[in-house]
Formats: sequence, structure tokens, C-alpha cells
Amino acid sequence: MRILGIESSCDDTAAAIVEDGVRLIAEAKLSSALIQQRYGGVVPEVAAREHAMAVLPVVETVLAEAGMQLADLDAVAVTQGPGLLGALLVGVTFAKALARALHRPAIGVHHLEAHLYANSIGHPVEFPGLALIVSGGHTSLVWWRGHGDLEVIGATRDDAAGEALDKGARLLGLPYPGGPEIERLALTAGPEPAFRLPVARVTGAPLDFSFSGLKTATEDLVRQHPDARAGVARALQEAVVEALMKNVKRAYALYPVPHLYVAGGVAANQRLSEALTSFGREVGATVHVPPVALCTDNAAMVAAAGYYRWQRGERLQPGEGPKTPWQLQEVARVES
Ligand code: ATP
Ligand code: FE
Repeated sequence: MRILGIESSCDDTAAAIVEDGVRLIAEAKLSSALIQQRYGGVVPEVAAREHAMAVLPVVETVLAEAGMQLADLDAVAVTQGPGLLGALLVGVTFAKALARALHRPAIGVHHLEAHLYANSIGHPVEFPGLALIVSGGHTSLVWWRGHGDLEVIGATRDDAAGEALDKGARLLGLPYPGGPEIERLALTAGPEPAFRLPVARVTGAPLDFSFSGLKTATEDLVRQHPDARAGVARALQEAVVEALMKNVKRAYALYPVPHLYVAGGVAANQRLSEALTSFGREVGATVHVPPVALCTDNAAMVAAAGYYRWQRGERLQPGEGPKTPWQLQEVARVES
């Protein structure tokens, strides 16, 4: 089953062809990040226009790379939400029209479920697992029992982990997206940590996260030590990793599963994957970290998630549009 995946929820227009949810045949991506950098963040209308221009060339590129024709595709999967409405509209409308013209099914995919399926490229996902989704807009802990069978057991109350890094980067005068910039700058800090930033706990909800206080604390630190940017970047990265790992450990104590997964743009962070890997070694769980290119938005993950949704009989109906907001918990099978 060869599925064309299309992703257009934010600032990347991506297409990929994946066979049976596992084997990546080809992928292509066009990012408007450089254009968005001029505005200091993603401007929804700018993103939508860029998708409209990019989607067809990206799909043609991926077909050429795969040496395939449109008629070789068995289905079209697309990110249906959540994300920027105008951006999603481009992908969803394109995917529905293409699928209809080809007489193939269209499948609508939840963007965060898709992030989880970045772990499916190369080898099938193994269950049960605990997954940490850390992206630009979301931070969630998921008890992942099977395909279409998951439970969100923790989430952020305010900012996402990636957002905390992006905001911190901005305070340090670094460009958007800030996560990779913080990681690079932190590497240039001295061997001993110069500062420590506070990690918030959410009272009464031990698996939930809160990152909004970190922004204020970072702001104060930057003001007090304007010449110690690398030290501040390192402290911010450490605080984010510590906050994430604390909850992963608490979750694991409640759900001692054999597999630990991480997904989303922040999963590209080396410090985070090191911390997870060493925790997995300690408790005897297998840690799965997607390759860096599949952590941030891409279409391979959409095609992979689409395959399993297709198996469950999920179809994007002709009259359906983007779904945003759309809670991840809603993708779980009704009977689960
Ligand atoms: P969502 O998936 O919640 O809709 P999004 O699609 O914008 O949001 P992703 O593309 O998954 O988010 O991830 C982008 C985020 O990942 C940004 O906040 C970015 O700063 C962060 N990020 C990317 N690379 C790294 C890195 N190496 N270290 C830390 N953070 C990173
Ligand atoms: Fe994303």
C-alpha cells in the first residue's frame, strides 16, 4: 500500500510516499521558515500563500524522486488538523481533489498522531509504549497501547516546550525557530553550568507541564547577565530537559512499559535524547528517537499515520474540511 502523505499545518509544505506505514520511498519539503523569520514568527496568511504555491511542485518532486506516476498511488493522506486554518485548508483541499481525481481514498490525519508515527519509519512501532510529544505548539505524554489506541496522560497547562525555547531564543536575539539555535549556543558554554533556571510543577497534576514561568525567569537572567548568552541558553535547555524528564520518570513509574518514544521538533535535541536514552538504559526500556529530519514537520510521518488510519477504515469524507482545534485524545478508537 503506497500512500502519498501531505503536510501543511504550519510553515513546511511537505510530501512523501511511504509503503505500508514503514518504508520511506521518497520525500520532499519546502519551508517558508526563512520568509517567516523576517516577521519573527509564522504569519498565518503568509504560510497559507506559500503552501498554495509549493504544494504541487513538492508533490511532483516526490513522484519524480520515487520514479512513480500519480496512478501508482494507493491513497492520499493529509494533515487535517490541528494547525493554522488557512495552511491546513490548502493541504486538505488539494488532497481531497487529488484523491477524487485518482479514484483513491483520502485519509485525514491528526498532526500529533502523525508526529508519533515518525517512529514508524524504518521499522513498525512496538506496543505498549509511553510517548513524549514535544513540538512547537504541544507538549504531551501519551500512553500508547496500539494503533488508534492511546491515552493522553499529561499535557502542558500553558506554553509548549518548543515555544519556551523559541521565546527564550528571541530574548537572546536568536532567530526563529529558536530550539536548534539554543542547542548550538548552549554547546559553547563552559563545562560547569553558570546558572540554573526554575522548573515549575503543576500542583495536583504530576504529569502536566508548565513552561510559562520559564520565560519570565529567562528574561530576568538575560537582563542581569547580558554578556553570558551561552550560559543562559544552556540553563534554559537544561530546565526544559529537566522538566520533561521529571514527568517521563513519573509516568514510567505509573506505566512501566517496554518502549519509550519521543516525537516532535524538540525530539531533535541531543540533550533530551541523551537523557531519555540513559533513563531507558537504567530501567530496561527501549528508547526510540526518530532521525532528526523526521522530528520536525514532515510528510513521511503523515503517510505512516495515514496507513494505520486507513487500516482502521478512517476516510476523509468529501464534505469534510480541516479540524482545528482537534484534541489528540479524540483519535483513540471509541471502544478503547
Ligand atoms: P505542532 O506540531 O505542535 O503543531 P510545530 O509543527 O510548529 O508545532 P514541530 O515542527 O514539531 O512543531 O517542532 C518545532 C519546534 O521544535 C520549534 O519550537 C523548534 O524550536 C523546536 N526544535 C527544533 N529543533 C530543535 C532542537 N534541536 N532542539 C530543541 N528544539 C528544537
Ligand atoms: Fe508539528
